[in-house]
Amino acid sequence: MSAKSHDNASERADDNPPNFIREMVEELLARDPNARVATRFPPEPNGYLHIGHAKSIVLNFGLAALCPQGTCNLRFDDTNPATEETEYVESIKADVQWLGYTWSGEPRYASDYFEQLFQWAIDLIKAGHAYVDSQSLEEIREGRGDFHKEGVQSPFRDRSVEENLDLFTRMREGEFEDGAHVLRAKIDMASKDVKLRDPLMYRIRKTPHHRTGDAWPIYPMYDWAHGQSDAIERITHSLCTLEFQNHRPLYDWFLDTLAVDPRPRQTEFGRLNLSYTVLSKRKLQRLVNDKHVHGWDDPRMPTIAGLRRRGVPPAAIRAFCERVGVSRRDGVVDVSLLEYYIREELNRTSPRVLAVLDPLKVVITNLEEGAAIEVDAPLHPTDPSYGSRTLTLTREIFIDRADFMEDPPKKYYRLGPGREVRLRYGPFLRCIEAVKDDQGEITELRCTWDPETLGQNPPDGRKVKGTIHWVSASLAADAEVRLYDRLFSAEDPNAGDGEFIDRLNPESLTVVRGCKVEPSLASRTSGEQVQFERTGYFTVDPDSRPGALVFNRTIALKDSWAKISKKSK
Ligand code: ATP
Ligand code: MG
Repeated sequence: MSAKSHDNASERADDNPPNFIREMVEELLARDPNARVATRFPPEPNGYLHIGHAKSIVLNFGLAALCPQGTCNLRFDDTNPATEETEYVESIKADVQWLGYTWSGEPRYASDYFEQLFQWAIDLIKAGHAYVDSQSLEEIREGRGDFHKEGVQSPFRDRSVEENLDLFTRMREGEFEDGAHVLRAKIDMASKDVKLRDPLMYRIRKTPHHRTGDAWPIYPMYDWAHGQSDAIERITHSLCTLEFQNHRPLYDWFLDTLAVDPRPRQTEFGRLNLSYTVLSKRKLQRLVNDKHVHGWDDPRMPTIAGLRRRGVPPAAIRAFCERVGVSRRDGVVDVSLLEYYIREELNRTSPRVLAVLDPLKVVITNLEEGAAIEVDAPLHPTDPSYGSRTLTLTREIFIDRADFMEDPPKKYYRLGPGREVRLRYGPFLRCIEAVKDDQGEITELRCTWDPETLGQNPPDGRKVKGTIHWVSASLAADAEVRLYDRLFSAEDPNAGDGEFIDRLNPESLTVVRGCKVEPSLASRTSGEQVQFERTGYFTVDPDSRPGALVFNRTIALKDSWAKISKKSK
């Protein structure tokens, strides 16, 4: 058996907060039920997707799903050959699919539009709206000025259309070296909006591209490529994060000047930020390159690949993204909200099993060698469709060290000398004696069991307050368990002196070897998920092999005793 997936991306919880973009589209559809809704998710393939991207994915695909003929494209914004790679393209496709979404038609690439963009640039030159500037990038930056300083016109601004066409064509043919010329839109050097002071449209870059190879020695700038790509795909709602708000006048200027019809409209929304987390591809890349983590899919990473390896279900990510909604402001969401949705989903979908992470041997002295007491134990507390498996009680078992205390305080209901607890799904167990080594370390417990308590309460009416988990010492499988904690110890890793790297949590990974898990887990394969009762939710790691199981702790259960003992400290 395996964890059941509830992977229907189209089922949307109805208790989510309204969001202004969805309302905008719903109003449009109320006015015109046949209105077209076409969105796109436009990643740059220069890194792996992270949970911030998931917010954008859930939003864009969710809007398209509001109307029957709605579409959502996957478009790679691959205009910068220096940082982009096929590995990233493939990982992005896999991640979007894993999240539960299907893009319309084939994936698209801005690089597929290089020819059309080039032709449009020629049109703008012919209409006097673009020119070749031969200043250095430094001079161009200087001349552009800033909010306080007016722009200065380039000495090349008044080149004739013929000269511009000639130079631009030769740029395209590869006649010039990097930096010799650029193409600029001719807008307004006196504009208050610095972005409108003759922005760059093309630069020369003799760098091979992961798809077009050496075909293009010039590459379009983001602002020139993005809106026009939207137009080519007949996108209606072009959604992007707030940092692009000040690009919108330029986005509109290009589309208006080219007079494309129909034309897309850009709307901005607030980025997702998470506490204890960094969500910038540049920073995530740094964590990978400098080996602070074991790769883009390290289970501590907020990447989709990392969350997947850790065992976070896609349904939990979708529910979380729907819940945080969309607003016109950037905000920081508490990572515990994500953790809440992970627990919610795994609680529904994980079979319950027994595993002991910190084994302490127990000898049941009144159970003879070779005896095997079998009990049938359900795999899920509320869903009988999960079935059951057999647990076998033998003379020697393991329990967790934390379930015994020599001198138990109040409210500690587990084992202690002379105390009795129930073994999960099994009988009562009474501790007779703790055996110690020369150093005073407890090496094993000697206990007795009561056959009259198997599957029932004893006739004498005595009760126990604690139930503990256990595994048979002779039958259990060995496992390595990887316990993850937050990757950063600061709520805002970007704030304060120094850099975010200085705030890494040195205890973000604890590898525990010699764990003992119930024998039904011996044949589990990568990605399978379970709850270790009383401990947490665990997922089989791809490193796992038969006989050498490896589990990732996806998330801990809330431990009530830990809470009590913390409070009393
Ligand atoms: P980063 O800043 O992490 O490097 P990016 O914005 O450069 O990300 P893109 O590949 O350009 O990454 O992003 C693809 C889409 O995902 C864009 O529409 C972008 O606005 C959106 N996006 C990126 N990060 C977030 C975030 N934290 N929250 C919401 N949307 C995001
Ligand atoms: Mg970007």
